Amino acid sequence: MKVNKMELLNNCPICKRNSFKTILSLKDYFLTNDVFNISECQYCNFKITNPRPSEKELSKYYESDEYLSHSNNSRGVINRVYKLVRFYTLYSKAKFIKLFVSKGKLLDIGCGTGEFLNYMKKKKFEVTGIEPNNKARLKAIEKYTLEVFDETELDQLQKASFDIITLWHVLEHVYDLNQRIIQIKNLLKSNGILIIAVPNCDSFDAKHYKNYWAAYDVPRHLYHFNTSTLIQLLDTNGFSYVKTKPMLFDSFYVSILSEKNKTGKSNFLKGFYYGLISDISALFSAKNFSSHVYLFRLNNS
Ligand SMILES: [Zn+2]
Repeated sequence: MKVNKMELLNNCPICKRNSFKTILSLKDYFLTNDVFNISECQYCNFKITNPRPSEKELSKYYESDEYLSHSNNSRGVINRVYKLVRFYTLYSKAKFIKLFVSKGKLLDIGCGTGEFLNYMKKKKFEVTGIEPNNKARLKAIEKYTLEVFDETELDQLQKASFDIITLWHVLEHVYDLNQRIIQIKNLLKSNGILIIAVPNCDSFDAKHYKNYWAAYDVPRHLYHFNTSTLIQLLDTNGFSYVKTKPMLFDSFYVSILSEKNKTGKSNFLKGFYYGLISDISALFSAKNFSSHVYLFRLNNS
């Protein structure tokens, strides 16, 4: 695909300094085969896709029905397993949240077709969603009668009105990272909870698959967090880190896709094997799982 406008970030979105080094060059395996670079900030080690397509150009890289990830076609064993995993994932997300807050107003940014919001609605939360993709948004509204708005309406929601805001594998896609965190901060009540799930570029599967690692997903993923850079980003924006927990199934999903990126064909068993090794090595050593959920609390101002 021909990208007409690329944007180069000169300053690190976290520490604001200006020394980047290119550390990886990799393809958009999912859609276009276009090549992008990942640079690392020489001060805080934050990794970003740099340069990146302009915000307008970036939308072209989402032009695939498959990227409505997680659609609902039910065919085959893998799909049945996928549905079981999805149900368990919803259950464990709710369980994690309920350790800290048992009711109240919840906003899910990037809610997709609304499965998580619908689940939380049944758990007596008052739920609202934000979803930039038209098809997904309309589906959430129709299927579950949810209140879901376009991204542009984020600023129209009532300030300081939410007890909890969630972003499940969304922050790595957000074009203006600091602006989005300020918007979130304005929408949360004092002491409100922010939950962020992102892939971890320090995981075993990331190190094993290197430029084939599916969770780099360039250029759709603009930022590649590890625990330290995510905590630093939130800390500089007035949030306190409270807790993290692994997303144990992501290593399998990511490794199976990465195996395909590497060899050009699917090898379910090999991907499954490296997914398992990733979880086991994280359990017994550095706690660097393929993906983590992080819980932050907004500091009193
Ligand atoms: Zn930096």
